[in-house]
Amino acid sequence: MMIIRGGAVYQKDRWEHDADILIEDGKILGIAPKGKYDGEQIIDASGCYVCPGFIDVHIHGCVGRDVMDGSVESLEEMAKFVASHGTTSFLATTTTSSREATRNSLKAVNDIMKKLYQGAEILGVHLEGPFINPGAKGAQAEQYILPASRDGFVDLAGEYEGIIKRITMAPDVEGARELTEYLVSKGTVVSMGHTVASYEKCIEGIEWGMRHATHFYNAMTPLKHREPGAVGAFLERDDTTIELIADFVHVHPTALKIAIGLKGYDKVALITDSMAAAGMADGEYYLGSEAVIVKDGVARLKEGGNLAGSTLTQDQALRNMVSIGFALSDVVRMLTEVPAGIAGVSDYKGRIEKGYDADLVILDNELNVNRVFIRGNQYDICS
Ligand SMILES: [Zn+2]
Repeated sequence: MMIIRGGAVYQKDRWEHDADILIEDGKILGIAPKGKYDGEQIIDASGCYVCPGFIDVHIHGCVGRDVMDGSVESLEEMAKFVASHGTTSFLATTTTSSREATRNSLKAVNDIMKKLYQGAEILGVHLEGPFINPGAKGAQAEQYILPASRDGFVDLAGEYEGIIKRITMAPDVEGARELTEYLVSKGTVVSMGHTVASYEKCIEGIEWGMRHATHFYNAMTPLKHREPGAVGAFLERDDTTIELIADFVHVHPTALKIAIGLKGYDKVALITDSMAAAGMADGEYYLGSEAVIVKDGVARLKEGGNLAGSTLTQDQALRNMVSIGFALSDVVRMLTEVPAGIAGVSDYKGRIEKGYDADLVILDNELNVNRVFIRGNQYDICS
């Protein structure tokens, strides 16, 4: 038995101070007052915060790698890098690309999920596109955008349909209703994004089952006082969740506060939407097939200048949010419990509770990542 000793342990709405977490076989056995139990291995967490591992439901790449590389090695490098920033699991996110490139990426994710590897656990795929509106393509490659259909999706996914946990699509493309209803019947999360749909159309999409919003505010119809758009629809509807990129580039701090104020901490996930340049110097990179210039850590398409993902990490998102006045426990919830629900793993990840996976992040008092555990195994932080 391993014990993480004496930290302030995150529990929903409070910190359990001076507590021990008991871990065996990769699972949390329980939480006890400090010193009540003895174990073979004691990790001192005094003066630190102990949080569930962060879960990123929208990440494309980092350290020069991209999910669209279609390579197990790239996914392994990503898994290692994000783990050193507190992310203990994630959904590998594709970009709109050719059928062949998409299929290669799905294959690579399927392959890595069957093997042992270091770092964060890959929970499956978030398919971003290709069933989106070209009018809000953001950094997605327009030539590969497709009208939505059940057959088109099945053809794209092939034998890998089972690992697709989430898809981002627009309600205002042909066939969106049919595909949404099919995916919802399969238990796949359908997330609205890359859309120019009216408020009314977005409400229709929510009714079909599009209950999550992709990079809220970005690449969707804004809230105007006579046309509330996608933003208004998701702020209004309590039966939806949203995700935000808290890098202060994609969304202004005030807009973050407004969205979270209206949705509540239980309905917002903090994502990175990071691309290959995360963890790297400024320069020229790719997001999927699209050339990107990164300057001062901001990624923009070489052609047209649209924002093209971020260089954010989840530990930096946490520090950013605390810096604008959010309570640490509320920020942790948006990095753990809420995304666990979106990824469909809330029965065993995203909380520090008996029976849950021992995915844990220890933060020092300046909120830097001190140690990371993935299913009870300590991940050495080297970068
Ligand atoms: Zn994205």
